[in-house]
Amino acid sequence: MSTPDWKIYPLLVGEADVPQVLDAFWSLSREKSLISVPIAAWLLVPLHGGEPILVDTGFRDAERCVQLQGLGPHRSKPEWTLQAQLSKYGFGLEDIQTVILTHLHYDHAGGCGLLPRAKFIIQRTELQAAAAPLVSPELEFGGGALFYDRKDIAELIDPLWSRVRLIEGDEEIAPGVKCVLFANTHTPGSQAVYVQTSAGNAVILGDIARKVEQNVNKAIPPGLYYDLEATYRAMKKIKRDADFILPSHDYEEFLKYAEGVPVGDKH
Ligand SMILES: [Zn+2]
Repeated sequence: MSTPDWKIYPLLVGEADVPQVLDAFWSLSREKSLISVPIAAWLLVPLHGGEPILVDTGFRDAERCVQLQGLGPHRSKPEWTLQAQLSKYGFGLEDIQTVILTHLHYDHAGGCGLLPRAKFIIQRTELQAAAAPLVSPELEFGGGALFYDRKDIAELIDPLWSRVRLIEGDEEIAPGVKCVLFANTHTPGSQAVYVQTSAGNAVILGDIARKVEQNVNKAIPPGLYYDLEATYRAMKKIKRDADFILPSHDYEEFLKYAEGVPVGDKH
């Protein structure tokens, strides 16, 4: 039997202008400007036959994001819908039977209702935290729920509940695709997705790190984290484990993989 081998395609499912302070350890950052970031999802296609897997689903509605989250303009385009992005690779919304959600923030879990046949793989601690987030209602951004959209969470609890699969800790989802829990980093139940390709190991980060150079290579933690030590150790582990690091909101890295993560001989 051949070793598991996946092709990974980036899906651009929106764009947002957000404070650059999200990129670096908040309390020590002097950065005040806004930057444009991609909202990414990822399509995993097995090269030797089998079902595709979708990682993350984008946001619900650009206008709603602006009103609710208080971050800056969000943009969508007809060619950036989940449907349009999947169709570039020959798939329809109904073809997706497995979705891994790295975490449940509004820009990752907003498109679940669009996928009529998918089951949704989520860390139990993430759904628990998202349902009753630890946050002051006085905070000016984050919609009173620290970037969890109550509509997304309500939808997962019901009507999508029969298709939600809660996992606890690390778990292989398909040969060569593994969820790895990084507890209390970007969120309480953030998970990365480790994917074997013929060119090496890819790690889809969710938002555990935002900018590869700053957060992973320079080991400067990102702005939003729950446990600084856990986050610092996560950066180290990801740097060690990954040949390809795939973040959600880093245009520089995202554009490198416009044609998909390269396949070829392991370097
Ligand atoms: Zn995000």
